[in-house]
Amino acid sequence: MSITASEFTTSYARVDKIPVDRRPEFAFIGRSNVGKSSLLNMLTSRKELAKTSGRPGKTQLINYFLINGSWNMTDLPGYGYAVQSKKTRSKWETRTTNYFTKREQLTCAMVLIDSNVPPQKIDLEFVNWLGELGVPFVLVFTKTDRKKARGLTQVEAFKKKLLEQWEELPPVFLTSAVKQDGREELLALIEKTLLG
Ligand code: GDP
Repeated sequence: MSITASEFTTSYARVDKIPVDRRPEFAFIGRSNVGKSSLLNMLTSRKELAKTSGRPGKTQLINYFLINGSWNMTDLPGYGYAVQSKKTRSKWETRTTNYFTKREQLTCAMVLIDSNVPPQKIDLEFVNWLGELGVPFVLVFTKTDRKKARGLTQVEAFKKKLLEQWEELPPVFLTSAVKQDGREELLALIEKTLLG
């Protein structure tokens, strides 16, 4: 699939304020600083559609982007940033829980995981929670161009951890926004899912 049009539409602080929209939705979520904005920009071939920031954990809103006029890309607030206050964390929890349990348009969640760090408890907990909810999701490992990602040791470690709990793994994608890796594969998955 090629993306011919992408535009930011609106940010929402509350899930019940998001209008009902017949368009399918693909949600992107991960720990703060995982490379989510960079990935969204890579997918849409836009430099600054999603704002990459030096201040992780800042955006607490759900941002909507309309793609090709036919589906929505949703950018969910990052989790797990060390200096997030308790209040911010509980807001994140409410918003995320509401989104994943109530948003009927949600078609597939893309869970971003940094391929450079050992399996993080917070990522595993989040993935296990999505699995228990029965939300369709894929794992998108980010920053595979970096030195510590070499050999995909951490990717394999993460998969192994998941297999302690689940019989099957979700689809796994390896991406680098720097090298533009994984773009075609992710867009192909979205296209296939849209075609049903
Ligand atoms: P977000 O907070 O999840 O939206 O993450 P950003 O996209 O803002 O990226 C966080 C940091 O990781 C920034 O310094 C980016 O330049 C860097 N980064 C993002 N993607 C990649 C990647 O694919 N490779 C490398 N080497 N760095 C990346």
